[in-house]
Amino acid sequence: MTTAVRDVSVFGDGIAYFNAAADLLQLDNGMRQILTHPSRQIIFSIPFQRDSGEFEVYTGYRVQYSFARGAAKGGIRYHPGVTLDEVTALAFWMTWKCAVVNLPFGGAKGGVTCDPATLSQNELERITRRYAAELVEVVGPDKDVPAPDVNTTPQVMAWFMDTYSMHVRQNVPGVVTGKPLEIGGSRGRTEATGRGVTICALDQMAEMGMKPEETTVVIQGFGNVGMYAAILFAERGCKVIGISDVTGAYYDPAGIHVGDAVEHVKKNRNLDGFGGGDKISNAELLTSQCDVLVPAALEKVFNAENAPHVKARLIVEGANGPTTPDASRIFSERGITVIPDIMGNAGGVTVSYFEWVQDRMGYFWKESEVNERLEETLLENLHELRKLTKEHNINFRTAAYMLAISRVVKVLRYRGVYA
Ligand code: NAD
Repeated sequence: MTTAVRDVSVFGDGIAYFNAAADLLQLDNGMRQILTHPSRQIIFSIPFQRDSGEFEVYTGYRVQYSFARGAAKGGIRYHPGVTLDEVTALAFWMTWKCAVVNLPFGGAKGGVTCDPATLSQNELERITRRYAAELVEVVGPDKDVPAPDVNTTPQVMAWFMDTYSMHVRQNVPGVVTGKPLEIGGSRGRTEATGRGVTICALDQMAEMGMKPEETTVVIQGFGNVGMYAAILFAERGCKVIGISDVTGAYYDPAGIHVGDAVEHVKKNRNLDGFGGGDKISNAELLTSQCDVLVPAALEKVFNAENAPHVKARLIVEGANGPTTPDASRIFSERGITVIPDIMGNAGGVTVSYFEWVQDRMGYFWKESEVNERLEETLLENLHELRKLTKEHNINFRTAAYMLAISRVVKVLRYRGVYA
């Protein structure tokens, strides 16, 4: 039984994973129909003025995929590759991610098709404020709560929160998460996704008998997720031997000095010109010798061509949708363990949830409390997935979809379909 055929789209990858788990759950066709259709897709124009005085128009999106378990939740992406298909897929994944870690949220995602590298701070602010203003009626702490994603920062969240608050004539910090601490952000949020990647990786490494001090790690992408993952892997004694960003990849089997890479990026905005390793191509990095591989950039990084050549034993997905269904099958056949995106990068939304809770209480937790609760939430659910993999002889991805789908379905059966 299938629901939709979208072979080449990003959403299509998601649907393929959904169908595999839905088959095992013997989910009825009606429920499949409901769960494979987004609740709401919004597309709008964002006219804005360049610093030069010229006007331009970009396209903005917000997809609110599901409200079943609570307010919709998901990041905002600024990237030239943003499309309705991509945003829908990301909103779909947010739905399952929030369910896998048992947060009281549905799923959403947003984006603007633009290249932030070509925009000044003032232009970025004008685009963000117009984007937020267009969504005032449909976002809010009990409706839909955006957060950072690729190329959006705490500053962007601050502009969003301010614009929304100006429109509704009161201060509403809980309308977005990932804000600067001073305006209601949570301690530990910036590092949370990378921290979650390392929590999952270290737990699975222990299960596989891999000692941190004997483990080598390669990370693709050196932004919010990849950079903090690299810092935390190094802190826990693992040897980070390869890193990359959009400007290229750097590899040194003796170990990359992560602190130097972080300093380089702080000074230069990216890794271009980093001297701490041999420069190789991004494609070579993915198939280089390593024990743990962390994709932390964009979708569809692993495919039928490169998956047979990946040498890692463990892949922890920091990015959303980095593995195509073909690659996923090849990894399973080759015995490579993959902690999928909806578990591997759920640390970000977990601490976003903590931020939302703190904003609503008006009481802010210590960083140690945030990190402890994050670890507890992730490990409790990762262990549940591990149990499912053993019980049903399936991989972690199918287990994660099974757990998430069954949690959403339970709620839908209680709530019913309003007609
Ligand atoms: P970011 O903008 O901070 O960083 C993205 C990084 O990827 C940059 O270093 C960029 O140069 C690099 N990159 C882009 N294209 C690349 C390519 N072709 N090859 C190698 N590197 C490339 O974004 P981020 O917030 O770190 O997000 C990265 C991924 O993690 C995305 O898939 C995002 O959806 C996912 N994610 C982010 C969060 C979060 O809290 N920020 C949470 C969950 C999932």
